[in-house]
Amino acid sequence: MASCIFCDIIGGTAGATVVYEDESVLGFLPLPEGRLADGHVLVVPKRHVSDLFDATEADLHALILGVRRVSDALRYALGASGVNVLNASGPNSDQSVFHLHFHVVPRWKGDGLWTWPAGRSEHRVPGDSAALIRKHVAGLGGR
Ligand SMILES: [Zn+2]
Repeated sequence: MASCIFCDIIGGTAGATVVYEDESVLGFLPLPEGRLADGHVLVVPKRHVSDLFDATEADLHALILGVRRVSDALRYALGASGVNVLNASGPNSDQSVFHLHFHVVPRWKGDGLWTWPAGRSEHRVPGDSAALIRKHVAGLGGR
């Protein structure tokens, strides 16, 4: 496997400010230049998983529970009124580190962040996208 900065953090060979840890999940602060807010946390599986598509259901269950626990801490310890949970997975998603991670960003009234992208995708799906999604999901597990 190519080197992975998050695996290095998990393995202790790279430094990070760890704020959450359980059996299968680690939460740590991004580098200062990457922080969208004071208290922004990255929540990652300890097992190397490249993105959502690479994760098992067990990975995802553990990860979203970690996201919730970190979110509770942002709300109750930092006084955030809400959080944004952000993820990019796969080519052309703007994923920058190819180890699955959720950004948990605390939000406060008047904090100056804007959540939603201003633009819209110019890609058009040939056919009825809702029907295509429903057909795939009905056959669960197909790739
Ligand atoms: Zn990794």
